Amino acid sequence: MKTWSEVAEVQPLASKVITNSIQKDRISHAYLLQGERGTGKEEIALLIAKVLFCESSDGTEPCQTCSNCKRIDSHNHPDVHWIEPEGKSIKKEQVESLQKEFTYSGLESNRKVYIIKDADTLTTNASNRILKFLEEPSRQTTAIMLTENSQSIIPTIRSRCQVIDLKPLNPIYFKEKLIENGVNHQTALLMSALTNNIQEAIEWSENEWFAEARKLVVQLIEMLCKNTEDVYLFIHSHLLPHLKERKEQEKALDLLLLAFKDILYYHIGNEKALVFFDPADALLEKASMSFSQERILKCLNVILQAKRKLKQNVQPTLVFEQLALQIQR
Ligand SMILES: [Zn+2]
Repeated sequence: MKTWSEVAEVQPLASKVITNSIQKDRISHAYLLQGERGTGKEEIALLIAKVLFCESSDGTEPCQTCSNCKRIDSHNHPDVHWIEPEGKSIKKEQVESLQKEFTYSGLESNRKVYIIKDADTLTTNASNRILKFLEEPSRQTTAIMLTENSQSIIPTIRSRCQVIDLKPLNPIYFKEKLIENGVNHQTALLMSALTNNIQEAIEWSENEWFAEARKLVVQLIEMLCKNTEDVYLFIHSHLLPHLKERKEQEKALDLLLLAFKDILYYHIGNEKALVFFDPADALLEKASMSFSQERILKCLNVILQAKRKLKQNVQPTLVFEQLALQIQR
């Protein structure tokens, strides 16, 4: 999403509100862009900054080729500052050093933009510093705050910002974008169920770890269908060695959850909703014969419980063993 017209395809309302204010020369002093991962917060922040500095914009669309546009793209523009968490939070010192820089006149103009990523991680002290800054707006300074979790932004900051809500990506649009990027249809379906970040989806679809994890989940389902004791050996010697980190274990459970949802969809004849299995997959038919609808619902519950246990740091071996035990019971 490098232009407003591209943003408009995904976030029509946000694009309209912001481009209108650009046309009327009424760009806000402070924006709060709130939306899930992958909804375009950073792209929109970059576009606002480019519009403000571009040497030959056509009014709303920046040219993308002048030195200001290019330096903003590469985060190298001296008057466009990015702040992001150092460790888990954005600290008062980070805001102070930004403000110190701002007291000198602009390096190349008087205009300045600061973009705060993960603004919900501002500490209380850092929030108060920002607030002071917002209370004395200068015509030339624009703040753009980005967050996935706007409830954690203190109300006094929120009320001084123009709040722009970004909508979750439409799954059909998402799937089409992935296919345009060379991802095959079946994988694109699966990815649109797992994430709403296009970059992440493309990375996973090319990633060997992910392909192997998907294969292992298929094998796990085959074993669960057979109701065999071998499943424990499989978990120890094949599955868990591939799932070294907690994130990987969670991802495997997400895949298993989608697979069981598919088995349920197959049962009720909603094959259009399948994301993990191809409708012609023999294992899908086999699994739907092995598991009644009632048992599938129970399995879905058991998988969700397993995800919670991982979050509570229960040992992964134990989590996966209990999962197999409860599914086979
Ligand atoms: Zn430009």
